[in-house]
Amino acid sequence: MTENTPRIVTCPTCATAVKWTSGNAYRPFCSERCKLIDLGAWADEQHSIPGDSVEEDMLSGQLDNSD
Ligand SMILES: [Zn+2]
Repeated sequence: MTENTPRIVTCPTCATAVKWTSGNAYRPFCSERCKLIDLGAWADEQHSIPGDSVEEDMLSGQLDNSD
């Protein structure tokens, strides 16, 4: 019985086997670098979405003209 065997997870960025321990501050990533890469990819996706705010602004402008 080895109750303290750390759980092994796969780094989402580079697919390296990572021990899920309290000492690993970057889990489930293998390193800070992989964590930042993943966060960066996520942020890029958010920014790559074309903004529809211009169209919305035009529509709301028409509604505003209710004089
Ligand atoms: Zn990694």
